[in-house]
Amino acid sequence: MSDLLFLPDLKTTEPPQENEIDMMFKVEAIKPPEHCLECGFDKLYKHSLRKQLIMDLPIRLKRVGLQLNRRRYKCRDCGSTFWERLISIDERRTLMRERYILLKRKHDLNERDAFLLETWLGNIPELKEAHELKEEFYRIWDTANPDEGRDRYRYWRKRCLSSKSKDSFKDLVRAIDNWQDEIFNYFDKRLTNAYTESINSIIRQVERMWVEATHLKRYEPRYCLMRTFIRNVSHDLIQALSARLCYMILSIGMM
Ligand SMILES: [Zn+2]
Repeated sequence: MSDLLFLPDLKTTEPPQENEIDMMFKVEAIKPPEHCLECGFDKLYKHSLRKQLIMDLPIRLKRVGLQLNRRRYKCRDCGSTFWERLISIDERRTLMRERYILLKRKHDLNERDAFLLETWLGNIPELKEAHELKEEFYRIWDTANPDEGRDRYRYWRKRCLSSKSKDSFKDLVRAIDNWQDEIFNYFDKRLTNAYTESINSIIRQVERMWVEATHLKRYEPRYCLMRTFIRNVSHDLIQALSARLCYMILSIGMM
C-alpha cells in the first residue's frame, strides 16, 4: 500500500482509512538513523515520539493525509538529541508547496516557476510523463474544430492508457468515455461545468465555516461524518434554490 505513496524511506503501519473524499495513511520510518547527526557515533537510543499530520499529494482525486510517527533519538556519546531525517517527506512538502506550478498551464508560468518545473520534471520521470499528459489534455480543447478535438482526444487517450501514469488518469478517461456527447458538445456551445464547480466551491466554503465554528479536528470520525452531512444537505439546498438565485450568489463573489 505504501507503494501508492512513492515515499521510499517510509512504511505504512496499518491499512489506510478511506472514505469517498479522504485517504489517511499511518506511516513511520523504515529504519532508524545509523549515526549521530552531531558527532557520527553509532550508538543511539530512542528519546521521544511525536505524531505529525502531513497533507500529501492527492491520490485518485482524494485528499491524502499522512499520520507520521516521527522519532527523536539521543546519542549515547555526545548526548545530543535530534529528530530522524525523512528526506522523502521533506521533498514531498516542497513539492506540495510548489504544486501550483504543476497545476498551472506551462505557458502561464513565469521564469522562476518554469525553472522549478523543469527541475522537478527532470528529477522525477513519472511526474514528467504525467505533466505532459496534463498539458496535452488541455490542448485537446484549444481547437475550434470539433472533429479535430475528437481526434486529439483519441490520440491522447491512447497515449495516456499506455503510460505509467494511466492509473492517475483512469477516472478522467472513464468520465469522458461515459459523457462523450455531452463533453464534446463543448466545441459547439463553448459551455463548461464551471457552474457545477461553483456550487462545489460554495459547499467547500460552508464546510470550512462549519469546521471553524465547531473546532473539529480533521480526520476524526465526527469530522468525516460532518463532511458527508454538509455535502448532502448543501447540495440539496442549492439544488432547491432557483438557478437565478444561485447565479446571483455566484456573481456577488462567494466563489
Ligand atoms: Zn553524538
